[in-house]
Amino acid sequence: MKTNIISQSLRSLFGSLLLITMVTQVHAGPGPRQVYTPIKTTEQAKELKPGEKIAFSCACGAVTTMVVGKDGRYPQHFTCPVCKKTFVVQSSGPHGIPLGSFVYEDDQGDKGTLLRAE
Ligand SMILES: [Zn+2]
Repeated sequence: MKTNIISQSLRSLFGSLLLITMVTQVHAGPGPRQVYTPIKTTEQAKELKPGEKIAFSCACGAVTTMVVGKDGRYPQHFTCPVCKKTFVVQSSGPHGIPLGSFVYEDDQGDKGTLLRAE
């Protein structure tokens, strides 16, 4: 009889612990990992708002995070702090880039991508 009571209270204790853990996880939110999605068109780039988190993904693999300036404009050019290449916006270009698409390219044809935080 006595053991039965102990095991029951243990079970309910375990149950409330489990509940606390689940609630804590919900309140923790999406976590420290920020999700970024690539901006593929000029339209998407124009939707950027001042203070919005963006990132530049370089051809060398480096990702640099930054914030949209007060004017709400995306950077027209970007110099990678790792490989020192300078990329310029090519919204439609001579290298077969479709009209309206949004890519950064350096003078050697390497491409960079602008990403926005979700
Ligand atoms: Zn780079």
